[in-house]
Amino acid sequence: LNIITLRLFLLLILIPVFSSHAQIKTEYYSIADSIISHSLSEQKGYSWLSELCSIGPRLSGSENLNKAVEWSRKKIESLGLEAWLQPVMVPHWERGRFESAEIVSPGAGKKLVIAALGGSVNTPAEGITAGIIEVKNFVELEKRKDEVKGKIVFFNHPLNPSWTSPFEGYEDAVQFRSRGAMEAIKYGAAGVLIRSITSRHDNVPHTGAMRKYDPAYAKIPDAALGYKDADYLEAELKKNPSLQINIKLDCMTFPDVLSYNIITEIKGSKYPDEIVLVGGHIDSWDKGTGAHDDGAGIMQCLEVLDLFKRLNIKPSRTIRCVIFANEENGVRGAQAYAKYSDSLSVKHIAAIESDRGAFTPRAFEFDADSIHKSKVLEGLNAMLPVLKKAGIEWVKEGDGGVDISFINNVNAHIGYVPDEQRYFDVHHSDNDVYEAVNPREMQLGTAAIAIITYLISENGL
Ligand SMILES: [Zn+2]
Repeated sequence: LNIITLRLFLLLILIPVFSSHAQIKTEYYSIADSIISHSLSEQKGYSWLSELCSIGPRLSGSENLNKAVEWSRKKIESLGLEAWLQPVMVPHWERGRFESAEIVSPGAGKKLVIAALGGSVNTPAEGITAGIIEVKNFVELEKRKDEVKGKIVFFNHPLNPSWTSPFEGYEDAVQFRSRGAMEAIKYGAAGVLIRSITSRHDNVPHTGAMRKYDPAYAKIPDAALGYKDADYLEAELKKNPSLQINIKLDCMTFPDVLSYNIITEIKGSKYPDEIVLVGGHIDSWDKGTGAHDDGAGIMQCLEVLDLFKRLNIKPSRTIRCVIFANEENGVRGAQAYAKYSDSLSVKHIAAIESDRGAFTPRAFEFDADSIHKSKVLEGLNAMLPVLKKAGIEWVKEGDGGVDISFINNVNAHIGYVPDEQRYFDVHHSDNDVYEAVNPREMQLGTAAIAIITYLISENGL
């Protein structure tokens, strides 16, 4: 190792560390203070959320979704920004006029609260009446496959209460929602019920997407059972394993319909062709009004641009807000945007997603390819002291988010991570309403997203 090589080596390892730290100027702290105080005291995003939720739930293909798109366009224009509606075809599934479950023997009459899973087929008008086989997981289903024929399979698999992260519990439990019916039909099941995926022990069932039916098998109805009624059914089955249940669903899939991604931006003053994207999704499930998921997320992202305007912040890079269509049951909006943006020479420096509820800010997670990974981690860590003002405690490698994950021409996918302990109390259920969103938690999150957006805009990543 000669002295020139050594110098070169030291230069190479020291320059990136030195430069990214040096770029965090003291003025950024006062800009962050200003963003936080305006976001918390003016609560604009929170008041927009009230308007958005008053439209009702926004399931893809619904008239409410069309109204919400139009409301968003008008809101963007009222902020002095231009709105571009990018067309995208989305699935159209409807719950229908009724859904019910009832124990019919022994002792008819006990009703159980259910919610069809998104994409499920209906039952005949008189419903299906069948016995139940309760299993904890797919391993048990496989073991008892000879008992399945003609029965309703009850996947009784709760969010694991012993784990710290409800998101990890969700990833574990959601497989029975997404492919329970596909596995059960292989052994001739008549239908599927899952224990509702929730962290709150009430009786409000949580819906969500099931995977597309396998054309090789029959399509069977699939629904979530309220948590308390899942407890009830579990107890009753212990007393009487041959009890019979009747399930009625009226849901149906219709042809795809036209919807839109809604896009707006503030052009960068120095690097207009470099984009920092902030986004979330406009569609919701048809339960509740999609307040946390993801009404609040898109209001946070839209308010980032409005905060810059209100505070006369002129970002160096272009700040683009993308309100994606159809995250819940198709991710068609995300695919359409990625196809469009990857075909252009515009470069995304970062894509930031808010879609984990509007709870107290905790962190940002990112995913980046091997070329960008270490620089991104270093850049975000350098920003952390400023982000801490808005309650951000850490940054680490992890998951950016579903909608932004399709974008390829980007240095980093970044996920906003609020506290997650109560998210699955509300997620995809009638509990997800405007009143479930705390204005301070939501607005502090808005500030955190605005600050990271600003810092990336000024420093790159
Ligand atoms: Zn969502």
